[in-house]
Amino acid sequence: MSGLLQGKNVVVMGVANERSIAWGITKSLHNAGANLIFTNRQERSYKKLVKLLEKHEINPKQIVSCDVADDESIREAFEEIKNEVGVIHGLIHSVAFAKREELQGEFANTSRDGFLLAQEISAYSLVAVTKAAKELMTEGGSIVTQTYLGSERVIPNYNVMGVAKASLEASVRYLAEDVGKYGIRVNAVSAGPIRTLSAKGVSGFNEKASLIEEKAPLRRGIDQDQVGDATLFFISELSRGITGEVLHVDSGFHIIG
Ligand code: NDP
Repeated sequence: MSGLLQGKNVVVMGVANERSIAWGITKSLHNAGANLIFTNRQERSYKKLVKLLEKHEINPKQIVSCDVADDESIREAFEEIKNEVGVIHGLIHSVAFAKREELQGEFANTSRDGFLLAQEISAYSLVAVTKAAKELMTEGGSIVTQTYLGSERVIPNYNVMGVAKASLEASVRYLAEDVGKYGIRVNAVSAGPIRTLSAKGVSGFNEKASLIEEKAPLRRGIDQDQVGDATLFFISELSRGITGEVLHVDSGFHIIG
């Protein structure tokens, strides 16, 4: 797959550490020859990212700070990216957040604040960054976000995040229609459970992971590299006929009743 993204500038949002799905995506995009630009929110994530890039001998084009809860921060980040690289061809949105206390027990107990926060960071942020990124995608482009089966089915404890992911997937479809006329595609990968920092916040992770190994057609778990390669497909021209799609990368678990 080397050379598939040669000369393409891709922005990656959401590497917190080596376990992040966005790190698996980074490796796939790098192996395909992409120029990578990163955004992070916390200083801690920035430091981890710098170390990881050094260790894997990946030379980033740019690393900028971006808090998706803040319109000004999004505007500044994409302004900086525009100044540095001018045109971008891809955007990876691998960002979500919900309060830990909302990811257990009954969904009916969700607070107003907790509901709105999950929607803001996990769904609205895709709308906001698409708006900013499309201005830099003057040669067409591809935007890929990360979702989960809890949007379609009731998965214990996923609660407020399941509703946010439903909103995220609907946003993928509406955005795909809006930006399709500019040659920009918007798609989502729906990954099976992967042990990451965010996944630790959802109660019962181990049960979910072992259910996949037991029940999914492929009888095995999902890792960051599988998601990375599926995301690479969406970013590349190999998927040029596809937009508004949600692709399950879950060993086939979603087809099992
Ligand atoms: P990580 O914790 O590794 O990544 C989550 C990222 O979200 C972090 O980099 C974090 O940045 C970022 N983030 C949170 N709030 C903000 C904000 N306000 N502004 C900017 N960035 C923010 O977990 P994952 O890799 O698991 O999560 C990535 C995506 O994959 C999420 O959308 C998640 O829902 C989805 N997903 C995860 C699955 C899993 O099992 N792990 C399964 C299916 C989908 P920082 O560290 O700087 O705060």
